Amino acid sequence: MRMLNRFWRTLEGMPGQANIISEWKRATGEDFELVRHFLRPTDRRAKVFRCPSPGGDGCPRRVVDHGDGHIVAACASVERGCENLELTESDIIVYGLNQRRLGNEIAECLELQTTFSGMKGLRGCVRIGEDRYFPGKRFPAFIAFPSSREMASKIVSRLMVEVDGPFLLLTPTGRHVVPEIDGLLARSHALHLALVDFLGVNDADRLMVTQSSDVILAEFRAKVAPKPPTDLVPELFPTPSWASWENVTMEFHADEVMSVKCGSVVRRVEPEHMGMKNRKSGKPTLQWTLLRTLARTDGTIPLQSPKDHDRVKKQKSELSRKLKAYFQLPEDPIAWKPGEYLWEAAFRIRSINLREPISDANR
Ligand SMILES: [Zn+2]
Repeated sequence: MRMLNRFWRTLEGMPGQANIISEWKRATGEDFELVRHFLRPTDRRAKVFRCPSPGGDGCPRRVVDHGDGHIVAACASVERGCENLELTESDIIVYGLNQRRLGNEIAECLELQTTFSGMKGLRGCVRIGEDRYFPGKRFPAFIAFPSSREMASKIVSRLMVEVDGPFLLLTPTGRHVVPEIDGLLARSHALHLALVDFLGVNDADRLMVTQSSDVILAEFRAKVAPKPPTDLVPELFPTPSWASWENVTMEFHADEVMSVKCGSVVRRVEPEHMGMKNRKSGKPTLQWTLLRTLARTDGTIPLQSPKDHDRVKKQKSELSRKLKAYFQLPEDPIAWKPGEYLWEAAFRIRSINLREPISDANR
């Protein structure tokens, strides 16, 4: 895969994303084949034609159409003496960006639902699709081509008025989206992403993402994730809709830090995220301790003696309840195995470099 610096910079820097083919070629260089795929001819014709750089007074050459197919580009500069050029009709056809085609392909790369539409009265911004990751929620995604900080700010202000709720804003590069504008976006729970950071091109000259769309959209989804319906857990893990407990992996990296993976989603999780921190003492609850036990014993809780059964079962039930709420998965993740006298987790759990507890017997 190749990254597309010139392609994205050109789309943002080219006024109105329109120009003659020779100028598109000059600006995009090795990325021209890709940009050609997204261009379409307009009914406009160029009025000027570049002079040998840097050009003097009277440059660049004016395009004069004498009719009957005779087109000349003539320079008015006396001191530079740029030669006149004979041109054909195809040399002066202005090509504009096919926003729908680009929008659809970007939406596909990000696995968004494609719903292309223009923005009335707002140039340089189109709606390309919706993120329907969360059931019943539709968050629109826009692509904008701001040529200045002022234009970026104008587009964002307008989107904040028009869109009721969070949205995703994509721009070719991030150079005009200054921290101040990011701040504005944050107020709407909206997020900006620069296409240059994650959209490259494959060997067949097709757009492709550098990482999975789940990873690219993780920050946005964390912002817009539905709030827990109860106060059982303060946050929710963005569990993909296809997932079950078998797809969840928890790894302890320290006593109070896990990394949790599900598909391509990865989160750093601490006791307070799962509602497993005692508010008064600031210490992890018994449920977190039980999770740590699971990590040390390959996902099982062996029953040491029959008299412990009811006590452990009660703690285990409370842990299951929190895990079900946090991951929004309905099945009990920790089942009793009668023949083996142990409880066993349906998810994978292990510890990485977690020190063993020092028991009294070892002191
Ligand atoms: Zn000239």
